[in-house]
Amino acid sequence: MVMPVGTKTYNCSHCAWKITVHHASDVLVVHFDKCPQCGHPVDMTRAGLIETLMARINPFNRL
Ligand SMILES: [Zn+2]
Repeated sequence: MVMPVGTKTYNCSHCAWKITVHHASDVLVVHFDKCPQCGHPVDMTRAGLIETLMARINPFNRL
């Protein structure tokens, strides 16, 4: 199975904010250093299969 490269999940351990971003291009890269809701540093992980599929289906997460 080929996994899409560049799909990442950012999550905040402080307020449970979470987003999965699918990077359709290497040119436009969005990176979250801090949680947009509370400012706490966020953890970045490579998205799992379900999260990857959800990010690709949801047009708001496709950047
Ligand atoms: Zn937060």
